[in-house]
Amino acid sequence: MLLKIVQAGTPVLRQKGRDLTPAEIRSAPVQTLIELMRETMRDAPGVGLAAPQIGEPLRLAVIEDQVAREEQARTPVPFHVIVNPELRFVGQPPGEPPAMIDHFEGCLSVDGYQAVVPRSQRVQVSALDHRGESITIDATGWYARILQHEIDHLNGILYIDRMRPRTLSTGRNIGAYWLGQTPDEIVAALGEGDAGKR
Ligand code: ZN
Repeated sequence: MLLKIVQAGTPVLRQKGRDLTPAEIRSAPVQTLIELMRETMRDAPGVGLAAPQIGEPLRLAVIEDQVAREEQARTPVPFHVIVNPELRFVGQPPGEPPAMIDHFEGCLSVDGYQAVVPRSQRVQVSALDHRGESITIDATGWYARILQHEIDHLNGILYIDRMRPRTLSTGRNIGAYWLGQTPDEIVAALGEGDAGKR
């Protein structure tokens, strides 16, 4: 069974979700929810799905990425669940300010569009897993981007709140105009947006 993915404008996407207790996580309804979210994410297809996206104001997300792509610093990430996550930006080396990386990003709840979003190159996440046990994730590259995107969902934030607004594009137009160009080239071509400076 597939769950319905709600679109931008649906109030639940703008709410901060509720934390779950370890006992709730292990309960049959939440275990079933996790299974259905996995199925829905794979069908979409997507590399992450947060509970608010299927209408549940809970701080739970599923993640799985099967793609390897060097220019995105992207390597496959096996299926896993994060609950009640707390995110920290990490510099490289640790202690330095985080390096922010630009890439096009889309969202199953903002259907049809993508935009360039700066994200921290490295993050550390403390969370509970699907059994309600504490985990710490140290992630870089595309996986760090996925974590930032999904954890934003659990806090009522969408990528459009963080995007470089002038880069907003339909998926079709990215193929038509911007394929083969680096995010830096695309941002330079479209401008950072100086409307406010006039
Ligand atoms: Zn999303």
